[in-house]
Amino acid sequence: MGEFELIQRYFTRPSPGAVLGVGDDCAILHTAPGMQLAISTDMLVAGRHFFPDVEPHALGHKALAVNLSDLAACGARPMAFTLALALPAADEGWLAPFAKGLWALADAHGCELIGGDTTRGPLNLCITVFGEVPGDIAGPTRTQALLRSGAKAGDDVYVSGTLGEAALGLQQHLGQLKLDAPAAAACRARLERPTPRVALGLALRGIASACADVSDGLLGDLGHILKRSGVGARLDTDAVLACCPWSAHPIDAPLLRQCVLSGGDDYELVFTAAPAQAAAVAAAAQASGTPVRRIGRIETQTGLRLVDAHGQLAVHTMQGFDHFASTSPQTAEALK
Ligand code: ADP
Ligand code: MG
Repeated sequence: MGEFELIQRYFTRPSPGAVLGVGDDCAILHTAPGMQLAISTDMLVAGRHFFPDVEPHALGHKALAVNLSDLAACGARPMAFTLALALPAADEGWLAPFAKGLWALADAHGCELIGGDTTRGPLNLCITVFGEVPGDIAGPTRTQALLRSGAKAGDDVYVSGTLGEAALGLQQHLGQLKLDAPAAAACRARLERPTPRVALGLALRGIASACADVSDGLLGDLGHILKRSGVGARLDTDAVLACCPWSAHPIDAPLLRQCVLSGGDDYELVFTAAPAQAAAVAAAAQASGTPVRRIGRIETQTGLRLVDAHGQLAVHTMQGFDHFASTSPQTAEALK
């Protein structure tokens, strides 16, 4: 099977939303008046972001999911994506399930594959997604996209869904942890088939003051919001730990904390909103079918403070976690 037959067989389908899809030198996307394009790229490298022997159907899902998660974090509606693929061989036993996993998620979000590039090489996947978000350079707000830079002192901090499961799944896979069967299955599913929170991101437009997706761990990704917004935050450690459905399991406490606070690959949304928006946040969560939990508050004092049930500052700080990560590169890399 040659390159063009491979593209034709696995990665070419009608893309009615695009002016021009796969087959020409460029794809052409139409943007409606008053809308802006939100664009994001994520690369997945075998051995770094996934195990080379991961199930190809799951990999197809995840490659697109991590990109859709970036659109979700901006409150953008997915439109289209391109796929750049380096493959060691044209292995149909791998390509067919990979394409199936990819198309299933693409179809679920009405996101069309409009082009890409295919080459021989060590397994590597790079997807660029295009989404739309209302905005106008002449308008007062310029864009209605959710940005990292809008958090204000006094805002509540929220996180969607669950935290730490993907990291626990990875620890289980690496043999560092022995979860019981239901926990192991749930955590593995979260690691391999993350759910991009697209509907929640859309529902939070005009409500959240800042938003990011949790790809590298809660503290790191919330840290990006704090830095871009020039503020700090106080988090309720118990509320954060309650975001992990397995926190009552007999898991080594420091490892559990590390997975929940700093574990990557959850692809949840961490966002801020003014207290006056609390009912609107709850309504957005309800409308999008995505649970959200309030985990803390934005403060003028920069940095991140973790507070336990007695109101005392917990020993862990973001610096502590960074330090831990840098002295434990193996774990840090594994958790990415
Ligand atoms: P070019 O020579 O301009 O790089 P190619 O010959 O590589 O174009 O690709 C031919 C067409 O197939 C283009 O429209 C390109 O976007 C598309 N394409 C190539 N690889 C993929 C892929 N993996 N998925 C989807 N479309 C692809
Ligand atoms: Mg090419």
